[in-house]
Amino acid sequence: MSHSNDCDALVIGAGAAGLMCALAAGRRGLRVRVLDHANKVCKKVLMSGGGRCNFTNTGATPANYLSANPHFCKSALARYTPWHFIELVERHGIAYHEKELGQLFCDESSKQIVAMLLAECADAGVEIRTHCAIERVERTDAGRFRLHTAQGRFEAPSLVVASGGLSIPSMGASGFGYTLAKQFGHAVLPTRAGLVPLTLTGKHAERLHDLAGVALPVEARCHDASFRNFMLITHRGISGPAILQISNYWQPGDELRLDLLPGTDTNALLRDWQRQRRDSELRTLLADVLPKRFAQRLCEHWIVSRPLRQYAPRELDRIAALLRDWPLMASGTEGYRTAEVTLGGVDTDGLSSATMMSRTVPGLYFIGEVVDVTGWLGGYNFQWAWASGHAAGQALGGA
Ligand SMILES: Cc1cc2nc3c(=O)[nH]c(=O)nc-3n(C[C@H](O)[C@H](O)[C@H](O)COP(=O)(O)OP(=O)(O)OC[C@H]3O[C@@H](n4cnc5c(N)ncnc54)[C@H](O)[C@@H]3O)c2cc1C
Repeated sequence: MSHSNDCDALVIGAGAAGLMCALAAGRRGLRVRVLDHANKVCKKVLMSGGGRCNFTNTGATPANYLSANPHFCKSALARYTPWHFIELVERHGIAYHEKELGQLFCDESSKQIVAMLLAECADAGVEIRTHCAIERVERTDAGRFRLHTAQGRFEAPSLVVASGGLSIPSMGASGFGYTLAKQFGHAVLPTRAGLVPLTLTGKHAERLHDLAGVALPVEARCHDASFRNFMLITHRGISGPAILQISNYWQPGDELRLDLLPGTDTNALLRDWQRQRRDSELRTLLADVLPKRFAQRLCEHWIVSRPLRQYAPRELDRIAALLRDWPLMASGTEGYRTAEVTLGGVDTDGLSSATMMSRTVPGLYFIGEVVDVTGWLGGYNFQWAWASGHAAGQALGGA
């Protein structure tokens, strides 16, 4: 029996992944309805990239993603590449530029990306409803999905969960997708805040907190991961791109190691100084290659500063090693309040990597951040949202 609230597919979440899925399915002639509890669509796209949306990364490969199954993301990423999204952006006349390392940003505003997605959805006949809180989801005997919402009942043979992760709860992030996954028998891997500033307590906090605002290039390392970029000292700890990147790999108790002079052979540098600047104090010379206040602080707490001629070779080696491998014990992260992403989520073992469909509940799909696939900083997370959304949008069946 046909019902006016029937359609071919319901998508929960009008974010990056949900809209990409909806427009891809709509283009194939499916009647798609997107439901979102927020007052407007794509809030995270709007706030992303400092208002300019770092919408993709031209260098995105599966190696840029974390997941319990690192192979899972391969199929979707291969079938919807950054170049597909760039083609869309260009077709809509949106000017963009590369900032660094393949990161593409809008020249003007992330609003343009949202306008583009909405125009594509409108053109594909997609209906989008905001202010639509979902109260209950059930599966009918006929295997259809019935949603009880603030705006009435909706039914469809396919349901796509694109409700995102837990980061920035003030923007309407909720654990909804995880609860729904569990309701349908899916495993959910433990979640934690990712791409997030780290906090310091105790000695490190005391020694560094008044340097808030000081930034320096570092190579941050944790386990086998390493990222070379800027670190920013904050009132609560450390942030900046190098730290946000490494935070994805860091867990409480792990030690971070920082190369404070990345790309420099510190042994050779110190020996050169000892030959050529024998009477200079180490503190003075370090202030030439590091932010001055940071160099001074290093010499107050970690390194004994003397004129270079006074160091024995073994002492110089030790100082070189410290500059290369400065140990820092973070106490925690700033949490979901400021995290850009959520690590963990719906276990990919329960999903098809080609279609994002549940292996056990036909017609049920999970895409975007709610899935246990998390990208690095730099446009990789949107690329996953586009690629996984596109994969599901191509696969959704008709009524
Ligand atoms: C400050 C910030 C900056 C970022 N910058 C970048 C960047 O520049 N580049 C990049 O690649 N990534 C960036 N990210 C990450 C990126 O925004 C996310 O990875 C991406 O938005 C995930 O897309 P998604 O569609 O899965 O989820 P979301 O975009 O979060 O969309 C989920 C949607 O579901 C809705 N929803 C949630 N719960 C419910 C519910 N119960 N009922 C109905 N609807 C619900 C939400 O309202 C939302 O509209 C940034 C994140 C943050 C927080």
